[in-house]
Amino acid sequence: MLSEAKSRPAATHDPVCGMQIDEKKATAKSEYQGTTYYFCSPSCKAAFDKEPSKYAKPKESGGHEHHH
Ligand SMILES: [Zn+2]
Repeated sequence: MLSEAKSRPAATHDPVCGMQIDEKKATAKSEYQGTTYYFCSPSCKAAFDKEPSKYAKPKESGGHEHHH
């Protein structure tokens, strides 16, 4: 059995390009609506800062959404 549940690094995704990045290695970051987003490059941050609502994911409330 693999035991990687405990040693998970603080990884996140660049919301602009979708690349997985390490928070510590992120070259740029931006805060939007109380959430910090990390970027692989300043150009991704610039794109995010331009239209944050386009890239920022709404907080998942964990509820069941029913659309009929
Ligand atoms: Zn990027």
